[in-house]
Amino acid sequence: MRPLVLFDYDGVLVDSLDYFIDAFLDACHEHGCHQVRTRDDFLNLFDINFYDGMAKVGLTGKLRHAVYRGMAERLKMKSGKYSFFKGIPEALREAAEFADIYVISSNDSRVVQEFLDAHNLSLYREVLGADKDTSKVRKIRGVSSRHPNVPAIYVGDTTGDILEAREAGVISVGVAWGWHGLARLEKIRPDHLLKTPADLVPCLRTFISALPLTG
Ligand SMILES: [Mg+2]
Repeated sequence: MRPLVLFDYDGVLVDSLDYFIDAFLDACHEHGCHQVRTRDDFLNLFDINFYDGMAKVGLTGKLRHAVYRGMAERLKMKSGKYSFFKGIPEALREAAEFADIYVISSNDSRVVQEFLDAHNLSLYREVLGADKDTSKVRKIRGVSSRHPNVPAIYVGDTTGDILEAREAGVISVGVAWGWHGLARLEKIRPDHLLKTPADLVPCLRTFISALPLTG
């Protein structure tokens, strides 16, 4: 049985926080949204689903969509500037040998896909960005339903990721090298909490070794 390993993108695979914040705040400025001004304001949006976080601070409906489009356009232009976290490309290649990989992100599918493809890492079954659905719960459940009875694990770097993985009914893995960091993730108690990218493949192998030998 090949299990499902579902990765978040920003903060798990790529070190993109500064570019993402700039893109988001520029898009907010363009559309006259002043609810999110600082790095902390921005990071707090990810205590829940990013799009729910935006709605919670007052960005709703068309405005939220306009900010998302503006942010995605800017991120497309910046994608050559950020890079993978050290050890991630190797971990992705190794994981793809024994698992089916999906990327489930709040970023735009094309931004994610073009970056992975440009680095010869088209190892995923599909990239599901916010353009396909803003809810990670629905996307995780949708992927799981395509692979009935296959165990799944979601790897994320924010409190919102862990909450959505938990709600979708999959194993949650928090990574401390991303946007929310170790102390913040410890409070939400993911099923596994990894300190460095070198911990990723051993964690996935442990998860798989605990699976039943059927299927
Ligand atoms: Mg993330």
